Amino acid sequence: MSLILKASRFAARRLGCRWLPLRKGQGVVSFSFDDVPASACLSGAALLEQYDARATFYICGQLTDGIEQHQPCHSVSDLQRLVASGHELGCHTFSHTNCANTPIARLRQDWDKNQAFFQQNDLPTNGFAFPFGAYRLGSKLAANRRFSYNRITGGGLQLERADLSALRAQALYAANTSADMVLSLIRQAAQEGGWLIFYSHEVTEQPGPWGTTPDQLDMALRIARQEHCQILPVQAAIDFFRS
Ligand SMILES: [Zn+2]
Repeated sequence: MSLILKASRFAARRLGCRWLPLRKGQGVVSFSFDDVPASACLSGAALLEQYDARATFYICGQLTDGIEQHQPCHSVSDLQRLVASGHELGCHTFSHTNCANTPIARLRQDWDKNQAFFQQNDLPTNGFAFPFGAYRLGSKLAANRRFSYNRITGGGLQLERADLSALRAQALYAANTSADMVLSLIRQAAQEGGWLIFYSHEVTEQPGPWGTTPDQLDMALRIARQEHCQILPVQAAIDFFRS
């Protein structure tokens, strides 16, 4: 890796942070879905609701009524139902744009387009998830000006404090997230008063590499409840830690 690339990655991670102290003494687990396949809106949301919990769904307006990775995507009525049931919607760019290598002016146009999509359909929205978890310092700062928080990927959880400019999230993928990992991360959140954010895509019996099964999602929800964590959508979790 070139020195310039290393320096720019270091700057992107270390600068433009917005710290939120996590001082509630209670663990929080959030569930989120990216892109979003219809199965996440249907099976995923239904499972959450069985636990009296809600999730955050990061939407690309361009994928609405479309197909992605052989999966049918959400419809506007799916999103309306999610909102009516108390779930949160967030922005994921309009075109699933890589924010690490797109000029900021183009990125802003793309965000505007997604915002127009939400407004046309009268859908409330809050927060942002970087597609692919990819960003650089410029896009992080531009996102900071526009969104109440930005979520990335990267794995693990936040302890003691969370960076609202780059909230770390853990994949919940049937193909490579083990039950042991789910259990140990939730226990750590519970014991240390941390905040664990899961992200996934489709929720089906035979998901692709980036999806989860109803059984795996159910297991994570059950463990979070057993460990006495709060289960909150991402913006609601921020409001909880701030309260
Ligand atoms: Zn995505």
